[in-house]
Amino acid sequence: MGRRLIAGNWKMNGLRGTGVALAKDLAARAQAAGEGGAELLICPPAQLLFTVAEALGNAPIALGGQDCHPAPSGAHTGDISAEMLADAGCSYAIVGHSERRGDHGEGDGVVKAKAEAALAAGLTPIVCVGETADQRRAGQALSVIETQVLGSLPADVPGARLVVAYEPVWAIGTGLTAEPADVEEAHGHIRGLLVGRLGTEAGGAVRVLYGGSVKPGNAAELLAVPNVDGALVGGASLKAQDFWAIAAT
Ligand code: PEP
Repeated sequence: MGRRLIAGNWKMNGLRGTGVALAKDLAARAQAAGEGGAELLICPPAQLLFTVAEALGNAPIALGGQDCHPAPSGAHTGDISAEMLADAGCSYAIVGHSERRGDHGEGDGVVKAKAEAALAAGLTPIVCVGETADQRRAGQALSVIETQVLGSLPADVPGARLVVAYEPVWAIGTGLTAEPADVEEAHGHIRGLLVGRLGTEAGGAVRVLYGGSVKPGNAAELLAVPNVDGALVGGASLKAQDFWAIAAT
């Protein structure tokens, strides 16, 4: 397994002033710490990508988009393509976040097409999956995750250029976190699916992140769970000190 990946999803938060201040704060911390710790990634809203890229300078922090359209360009008002993300300095793109699946009705087929577009543009897709509270209560968590993973993964993954994020929908932005035993079960299941699809080496090399109310106080416990190779952090990524504490866990 490569380095742990700690990714910050700013969602629809940040204007130029706050975005640049946050990026500069993180850049200074990362530059002072040097390489060797977790790989860091921030995913600001699209309008801030160029500005944040500039604010990061040569600090060891990667930039990612929060979504991309499956097509490289065209008549898709309001969308952003993977090529555009790459042009803005991104190396990652989140696809299939539950807020996209929920707010925009995105199903596995669309998520898969977006992941493939990200790969084609030279980005690493972060494919999000996770069950709702009702699905977990009904004992369907693993089957929902399995359907989403198998339906959303790109057809062909060059090398290990893929990240999967397990984000139980009921734990996102709620302050609720999954129990370590449940996280272990879900991540173990995802790992098995990845190995089944990509083979032992490539499937073993894909980083599987946990997301859902990760904060400094619970990061150590969650990151210690087998097959948890990092975290996708929403709310806590908006505070440099909290994001940094999670990254330094
Ligand atoms: C997310 O946006 O992917 C997320 C996990 O959010 P939060 O950390 O706020 O639950």
